Amino acid sequence: MSGTRSLALLADLLGQRTVTRESNLALIAYVRELLGAHGIASTLVMDDTGTKANLFASTGPEDVPGVVLSGHTDVVPVEGQAWTLPPFELTQRDGRVYGRGSADMKGFIACALHALIEASKLRLKRPLQLALSYDEEIGCVGVRRLLDVLHAAPVRPFLCIVGEPTLMRLATGHKGKTALHATCHGREGHSAQAPLTVNALHLGCDLVSEVRQLQARVTAQGARDGAYDVPYTTLHVGKFNGGVALNIVPNRCDLDFEIRNIAQDDPQALVDLLQTAVERISAQAQAVVPEARIEMVEVNSYPGLDTSVTEDAVAFVQSFHPQTEVLKLAFGTEGGLFSARLGVPVVVCGPGSITQAHKPDEYVEVEQLAQCDAFLARLIGQLQAL
Ligand SMILES: [Zn+2]
Repeated sequence: MSGTRSLALLADLLGQRTVTRESNLALIAYVRELLGAHGIASTLVMDDTGTKANLFASTGPEDVPGVVLSGHTDVVPVEGQAWTLPPFELTQRDGRVYGRGSADMKGFIACALHALIEASKLRLKRPLQLALSYDEEIGCVGVRRLLDVLHAAPVRPFLCIVGEPTLMRLATGHKGKTALHATCHGREGHSAQAPLTVNALHLGCDLVSEVRQLQARVTAQGARDGAYDVPYTTLHVGKFNGGVALNIVPNRCDLDFEIRNIAQDDPQALVDLLQTAVERISAQAQAVVPEARIEMVEVNSYPGLDTSVTEDAVAFVQSFHPQTEVLKLAFGTEGGLFSARLGVPVVVCGPGSITQAHKPDEYVEVEQLAQCDAFLARLIGQLQAL
């Protein structure tokens, strides 16, 4: 099976500018038309604004569980990056295909479309399905609506393959993520009289200190999963903003921070510990000025993925894609949501490397696309035989 058509499809997909903040409807319309021309119907699940859509398509019998291939259509921005090649068109050079999203993850989507078209010509015993989402790059936001629809469907897939770039190696896990924001309210004043009021930056520092102490505790005493490079749950402050001038006691400070949890840890328990700390810090500050406080809100979260390697679905994938080592990934995917919402076993396996993702001159090796085409062709063979 040659990768010629996958490459042609990838050229079309790369030409669609689907940076997360923009509409993905042109790409979705393209996919719908392409599949429709081969007799494959698609269902769209729109966002509230009507400018973005998820797409679900299926080929083969409708009344039995199948395999769903999952990919996100959005890509990260290119602004501020030193691209030497045009980001929104395909450039093929030295065995590589360059373009924004080539690795993350339009390369996989191209191979998946090719596979669906091939499968539509065959008599499958189990369906091959495609789930395309929007707004993945901002916290797996869009796919949730699609999962609501799939949750209500009479038949669910027996396996979900998320095609995030793993160099076609098999992965069964990733950490969950909880993004948090805190607004610290103090009271402004002349810096010469700083002790008479509450400095919002100082409140922020107290909260950062709590985050760091919690990390130290988790590191020393928390659960561990040796399959990860960092084998425990992590906490991290990514942004700390506040202050106007040196001689003004700042009245406001904003923090963005996160928890990335392994499966053994419940992120809500950690959020609760931080909330208790927030209340203690606020109470102390209110003894000085009554309006002083920290407000902490959860901005976004997605669950981790922890598919058991003893799952039949993992053995099924291994039967046509033997791997000596099964990985856990440092980055998150929509797989955790597929698993949590639908109860469907999920593996992550896709062409290209996460090392090339989100960078200038992002690329995928043509050989990786060929491997993915071959992988999906073997999957189709299984769906004919099952
Ligand atoms: Zn991705």
